[in-house]
Amino acid sequence: MQNINRKVRVRFAPSPTGGLHLGGVRTVLYNYLFAKKHGGDFILRIEDTDQTRFVEGAEQYIYDCLNWCGIEPDESPKHGGTFGPYRQSERKELYKKYAEELISKGYAYYAFDTQEELEKMRVDFKSDENPSPQYDSKIRMSMKNSFTLSSEEVTAMISKGVPYVVRIKIPFNETISFNDLIHHDVSFDSSTVDDKVLLKADGMPTYHLAVVVDDYLMKITHAFRGEEWLSSAPVHILLWKYLFGLDKMPQWAHLPLILGPNGKLSKRDGAKYGFPVYAMNWTDPRNHEFTEGFKERGFLPEAFVNMLALLGWNSGSEQEIFSMKEMIAQFSIDRVHKSGAKFDYEKAKWFNHEWIKINAAENLMSEVKKVLHSKSVVVEDDEFLKTIIALVKDRCTLLTDFYEQSVYFFKNPDSLDLDTIKPKWNDEKKHFFEEYCIQLESLTNWNVTEIENTFKNLAAEKNIKPGELQLPMRIMLVGGKYGPAVFEIAYQIGKDVTINRINIALTQINNQ
Ligand code: GLU
Repeated sequence: MQNINRKVRVRFAPSPTGGLHLGGVRTVLYNYLFAKKHGGDFILRIEDTDQTRFVEGAEQYIYDCLNWCGIEPDESPKHGGTFGPYRQSERKELYKKYAEELISKGYAYYAFDTQEELEKMRVDFKSDENPSPQYDSKIRMSMKNSFTLSSEEVTAMISKGVPYVVRIKIPFNETISFNDLIHHDVSFDSSTVDDKVLLKADGMPTYHLAVVVDDYLMKITHAFRGEEWLSSAPVHILLWKYLFGLDKMPQWAHLPLILGPNGKLSKRDGAKYGFPVYAMNWTDPRNHEFTEGFKERGFLPEAFVNMLALLGWNSGSEQEIFSMKEMIAQFSIDRVHKSGAKFDYEKAKWFNHEWIKINAAENLMSEVKKVLHSKSVVVEDDEFLKTIIALVKDRCTLLTDFYEQSVYFFKNPDSLDLDTIKPKWNDEKKHFFEEYCIQLESLTNWNVTEIENTFKNLAAEKNIKPGELQLPMRIMLVGGKYGPAVFEIAYQIGKDVTINRINIALTQINNQ
């Protein structure tokens, strides 16, 4: 490994075009875990050189997502750092000199072809052997560029302001190889690679030039990115070779895809199968298209990152629940799988359920309060809320489940599932509950044991099985067939509310 003696520096380099897919978050996470494991730096670089794809709010959204996931960059446009600016659009001037250096060394060239000429080339050169011609070593000499024009013509055109791009000259018939940390030995035949544009007509670099220059200037030692970038690797390798030397090139790891039910997981899969694919809600300001996020669906960030870490990595043990600290300690790139990892929404929910169970009620307070407030449930007593969270949290898979599982502690149920009570209802049961209310009224000690003993003694006296009375009691207090122990519920809502709810239910049953 060439970077063994350097301080580990990794980067997440998103183009802020909107939304952060869970594959993107997993890329951030693996970068972050690796950096922190090795005492290194995690850099967030905004790759916004394509001005036509600028999306209002997209950069802020990235900060918000990372912040929610508990991943704080050491350096970024927002956090600053000694290698800034960290937004590529603010580094525009810097790339030009590298493009010029490549031209002067003969590794890149000016190309003046218009859009029409490029389209014509794709038609003219189309053949059985070459069904989709591209600007490459075979075609380069038939185009309008500094290899086919004289240097006088080139100078004149540039000074007249004729638009041009700078292209890399990809050699003919060479093998370009590198060692990927996941895929190991990877080789490309240079003849299949086109002469990529490095500098655009507006003077902005393309991704290819900018990523190499910035990884060099920012002293990046390791770059983990999605497998979709593997095909760009030969261009980057040549740029490293021509500009800085291959010994300075970061170690790359191209991460396997996250798969949905039909190949690469897409936004459309989320909509089709009803699960989120973005970290947080995102509304595209250009067309108002909305994509749901894990956060708003009711996921805890701990569960979300835990689930993502295991989508393509394992620790080598049976352990599935990892805190961020544990993941940092155990993460190793050697244990990242080569093949795609299948996303399973049911498993994602399982992680969330586990994390809701693990978290102390106190830690869940603010999120649960938000859920309840969003449904206009007023919570006045934090201590009471904490008790209720502790009582019901094992029954909640998503944070949003806290509404259904706890609303009846704060207000009377909107409706009662009388259909469940009615078929087995009779006058004995009615008399039981009437008398139970009278006995509850006179209880001096309102505690679970007293409430339960009174219930059981009265049931025994009336010769009714307590089991037959508990379900109606639960429905009277809760509205449905769920919730923790029924006497615990009565204890928590208090004597007056318990008696009142039983009476409301009795009236409703009688009136039906
Ligand atoms: N800007 C690229 C992206 O949007 C970065 C790819 C890389 O990490 O090299 O994902």
